[in-house]
Amino acid sequence: MRWYDSHARDLPWRVSPQARADGAHPDPYRIWLSEVMLQQTTVAAVRAYYHRFTTLWPTVGDLAAAPDAEVMGEWAGLGYYARARNLLKCARVVTDTHGGMFPQTRDGLMQLPGIGPYTAAAIAAIAFERPEVVVDGNVERVMARLFDIHSPLPAAKPELTRAAADLTPDDRPGDYAQGVMDLGATVCTPRSPACGICPWMDVCAARAASTAAELPRKTPKKAKPTRFGHAYVARRIDGAYLLEERPAKGLLGGMLGWPGSDWNEDPAPAPPLPADWHMIDAEARHTFTHFHLRLRVLVADVGQDAVPETGTFHPIHSFRPAHLPTVMRKVFDLARSEFDNA
Ligand code: SF4
Repeated sequence: MRWYDSHARDLPWRVSPQARADGAHPDPYRIWLSEVMLQQTTVAAVRAYYHRFTTLWPTVGDLAAAPDAEVMGEWAGLGYYARARNLLKCARVVTDTHGGMFPQTRDGLMQLPGIGPYTAAAIAAIAFERPEVVVDGNVERVMARLFDIHSPLPAAKPELTRAAADLTPDDRPGDYAQGVMDLGATVCTPRSPACGICPWMDVCAARAASTAAELPRKTPKKAKPTRFGHAYVARRIDGAYLLEERPAKGLLGGMLGWPGSDWNEDPAPAPPLPADWHMIDAEARHTFTHFHLRLRVLVADVGQDAVPETGTFHPIHSFRPAHLPTVMRKVFDLARSEFDNA
């Protein structure tokens, strides 16, 4: 804790140890928002989104009242879009059912949409000072090294969690959780741990055994398969683009996208409207958690009276490419340069 008091990272959602000692309290809304954004995502990627969300919606009630499309649009590019849908659901449950106050316990938090065991423990510890065991990838690495645990992940998770639980204090559990995360992020880093400046250097078993750099061990992951698909980009003569809202369930659920295939088939599906479609000589490539995707892109200029079988035309003044998920933005970038060069 002495190390954390002088080395805590300066994060926009965090109350510094000094401010906390002076009586400041973290805002549970901001802790929750940051923890949801940080799921599978780096601090560097989250900062700008967190700033925009808290500027647009400073309280959980403000977020609960926001239109779905606006929130989904602001989330675009951050990935794992089920998080955005659950974020809204959760904000509305907290506002409508809990009077705008987050539950303070891990079990209470886990009743809310989009909050699993890790996120519930993190919010309970950081926002409400509950002595919960918070174990993310950083903490797993530090525990594996501190106790020189060689069992491979993910099977080693329970063992690493037990080690973390043994160390979690009743006093300042939130700062402790953040301290171990910071240690993993800044000192006990994956490739070259800086043992020489580590507050645990004298007691670290992996340092003593010179095994730190090879820990934690991991069971090799299976190679990701590649899926293929097609995307149709139609531009109307007034500059409007044809987009469709993807089904609420499934990958990119609820986000705007280009009409096309469901990424399971090779032959091009029927276009969303008859036109002189032209296939671009380049693919939009994107990697999701479980597969690589390669999309062939077809473009067409269509008349003002074009009637699509699927989707709606979005006028140029209201179409914001930044509100598209990353893979759809890649498609748009290819289509736009094709239109520009035509
Ligand atoms: Fe990590 Fe080295 Fe510290 Fe051990 S001494 S916890 S390996 S940085």
